[in-house]
Amino acid sequence: MSMNNQGRPSAIPAGAASFDGVTGTVTGNRGLQIEEPLIFEQDSAGRTGVDLPDVPKVASRLGAVKPRAKVGLPGLAEPQVVRHYTRLSQKNYAIDSGFYPLGSCTMKHNPRLNEKMARLPGFSDVHPMQPVSTVQGALELMDQLAHWLKTLTGMAAVTLAPAAGAHGEMCGIMAIRAAHEAKGDTGRTKILVPESAHGTNPATAAACGYSVDAIPATADGRVDLEALKAKLGPDVAGLMLTNPNTCGLFERDIIAIAEAVHAAGGYFYCDGANFNAIVGRVRPADLGIDVMHINLHKTFSTPHGGGGPGSGPVVFAESLAPYIPVPYVTHGKDGFALVENAGDGLAFGRMKAFHGQMGMFVRALSYMLSHGADGLWQASGDAVLNANYVMARLEDVMTASFEGPCMHECLFDDRFLKGTGVTTLDMAKALIDEGFHPMTMYFPLVVHGALLIEPTETESKASLDQFVDALRALAERAKSGDVAYFQAAPRLTPRRRLDETAAARKPVLRWTPPVVAEALAAE
Ligand SMILES: *Cc1c(COP(=O)(O)O)cnc(C)c1O
Repeated sequence: MSMNNQGRPSAIPAGAASFDGVTGTVTGNRGLQIEEPLIFEQDSAGRTGVDLPDVPKVASRLGAVKPRAKVGLPGLAEPQVVRHYTRLSQKNYAIDSGFYPLGSCTMKHNPRLNEKMARLPGFSDVHPMQPVSTVQGALELMDQLAHWLKTLTGMAAVTLAPAAGAHGEMCGIMAIRAAHEAKGDTGRTKILVPESAHGTNPATAAACGYSVDAIPATADGRVDLEALKAKLGPDVAGLMLTNPNTCGLFERDIIAIAEAVHAAGGYFYCDGANFNAIVGRVRPADLGIDVMHINLHKTFSTPHGGGGPGSGPVVFAESLAPYIPVPYVTHGKDGFALVENAGDGLAFGRMKAFHGQMGMFVRALSYMLSHGADGLWQASGDAVLNANYVMARLEDVMTASFEGPCMHECLFDDRFLKGTGVTTLDMAKALIDEGFHPMTMYFPLVVHGALLIEPTETESKASLDQFVDALRALAERAKSGDVAYFQAAPRLTPRRRLDETAAARKPVLRWTPPVVAEALAAE
């Protein structure tokens, strides 16, 4: 077969009837899904999208510096460029095109009202270096968002600066370190992290210079309180715990956990990325949490995935509020002001240049105000209801990892596939043929072959039923012994089973012109 230098088929092989022997089509296209060559492969010398006047001869001002070769930009007409990028954009599967049940990441519908608000010129066209007197409205919006975040969490202070959940974690752990240092308590070198934690938790603790000690889970998927108590001591700076945790379970012992950590002189960091499961129902401050980040992009709207933008405000209880980083907004008789230097020397510094992600603040506040208290209460309730509905409808054909109801996501493991030869990965690939983005696979690590499903509050019963029916049929097919079907999946995608490890470890990110590639090969 004729391949381009990226290893993709580029023409019908001599003597063959179809492009790649799989599609059966001459073009490689599948219906209206077009086989898309790279933009460089569409190059046609001299073709251009603009008609420029001839350049008059001028003396070069580059002195001895002379171009050695052509720059190598491809020549294309405007409609070609438009089609190329439009088709590429259509290859993106997104929450706006279908159901996206990825667990732990909350891929939910983002109301367009919030987008409209974020694009208001008074918010979108401000510059962080403008005098504060000219951005009073933007500061007022930040102040209101801070107010509602504190109200919803019961906390004393908030910083809006962190750019993502993981950045918020770093902010919280830096505040914990600052608090211990302010007390002269320098012997605390460890952070405790449960086994089921999101990978960012241990990474954050390690990046802040702490060693990480893992706490095992109980048979019902919660933190083992006795094991935690056994690890607490004068060397422990704090605990990082996710609640609801990444098994989709509420940590029942959370108050006892907070008390034990405090009694040992540590601080309690809560990973609040899953706040969407409890917002409007539980105030983290009432659970004894000292500091927590909130992923605005998971709980309070804003599209995410594929590169953001994220926003990870961090709320602080009284215990850690003095160490909050700058800047923050204050409100006095002369209007709103930005505190860039706390003056008391306690703030541990700043998390980033300027004040954070303005567009996300607008979206989040717009989401809060348009939902109202009753709407937020209903959103978390519906998220939990939907997850429990999915779990209840699948329990008899798949194996739920833990007994009892779940929170915003439901967790299955691969015991139902035992002896079938079909794996969690095969199930996910077969689900793609059915038109669904797969759930989170193989995470959390505390169960074998995890399948973690987060439907979110925005899916209708009809869309959940369609998803469940597809999964039920696949589970039954696996049990009927049809391994071959799964091993050949996905069948209907532009590319079939990829070597995902090689794709991640050795990505081909550079196009090499064919002449150069040939020369390289000959060397
Ligand atoms: C998403 C998530 C994070 C990280 O958030 P980012 O914004 O992606 O950095 C941390 N913990 C949990 C539990 C999460 O779900």
